[in-house]
Amino acid sequence: MTTGAKRDYYEVLGVSQGANQDEIKKAFRRLARQYHPDVNKDAGAEAKFKEINEAYEVLSDEQKRAVYDRFGHNVPGGMGNGAYGDPFGGADPFSTIFDAFFGGAASGQRTQRGPQRGADLPYTLRLSFEEAIFGIEKEIEYRRLETCASCKGSGAEAGTDPVRCPKCGGSGEVRQRAPLFNMVTVTTCDQCMGAGYVIPIPCRECRGEGRLRQLRRLTVKVPAGVDSNQRLRISNEGDAGPRNGPFGNLYVALDVQPHPYFLREGNDIILELRLNVAQAALGEELEVPTVDGNEKLRIPPATQTGQTFRIRGRGVPYLRQQGRGDQIVVTRVVVPQRLTDQQRRLFQELAQTFDHEGDQHQERDDGLFGRIKDALGL
Ligand SMILES: [Zn+2]
Ligand SMILES: [Zn+2]
Repeated sequence: MTTGAKRDYYEVLGVSQGANQDEIKKAFRRLARQYHPDVNKDAGAEAKFKEINEAYEVLSDEQKRAVYDRFGHNVPGGMGNGAYGDPFGGADPFSTIFDAFFGGAASGQRTQRGPQRGADLPYTLRLSFEEAIFGIEKEIEYRRLETCASCKGSGAEAGTDPVRCPKCGGSGEVRQRAPLFNMVTVTTCDQCMGAGYVIPIPCRECRGEGRLRQLRRLTVKVPAGVDSNQRLRISNEGDAGPRNGPFGNLYVALDVQPHPYFLREGNDIILELRLNVAQAALGEELEVPTVDGNEKLRIPPATQTGQTFRIRGRGVPYLRQQGRGDQIVVTRVVVPQRLTDQQRRLFQELAQTFDHEGDQHQERDDGLFGRIKDALGL
């Protein structure tokens, strides 16, 4: 192989192996400005400029970069040098510069062929009323595409390697000249799907896909205070991307079950409290259920249906801040459906004590009437 003298692409651009695309682009711009043949008339400038350009061509393309990271300049399959495609092969040598400086607007031909991200996956997690309020850790199981262990995502059978795509020569792009308009069109190569290499002997485990659907077990941490119609994003727990591309996300939709007697209203919890006529008339200290257990609540004498009592801090925790909502107790006075003989006698006795006429007329809620009048502008 004649690759001994070739400098490492990272070294050429002066960036680390872990550099992100931003750092690579910045380094490239700086060096390209310095060595551009229009600006720099030094003897070695043009060669240096080509070297920079070639390094950028590979490192700015995640697909090519991944191949380079694995194989360096010695791409297997006997391809040796130039396996990534000659950056100047038939293309405008300065289109890359324009891409970098003007975000691709000047060329408009370069197709982005970074490794594809895996798909996002949905999951529905059923929670009880209390689990949603207090939060919980739940183990879930689902199937997702994982990188094939047998070929490590390459898709090539163990002991074999991917080779440069014969159709596009490794560039991942096919150029065609339309005869009528004398225009050059660039399309993604359909033989390698833009990867620049093909797999002669596909991996038996994954049939060359590089990925396999496998069972995944995961502990999901549900924070306190969540509700139905909310979803949790769990980064990188979706499908693996093709050819070692990054993972998608898992989106866990929450399905909170209703409670037999608590009703959730945002961060407050509503409880209907039934009172018999004696409790409502005389008042009483009662034990009422809350999500934290029973709590004492004093019902004052002459409590009517629809009165509310607030038990502070017994509601739902706020998701992104301290504190909790309240429990709101709404009273409902229930007239007995059946009376024992004794109760009937007592009610009859009680009835004698009421001043019928006065009571009935006073039942009109003047306050309520006043409010309705105000609302109607009477
Ligand atoms: Zn495989
Ligand atoms: Zn191809």
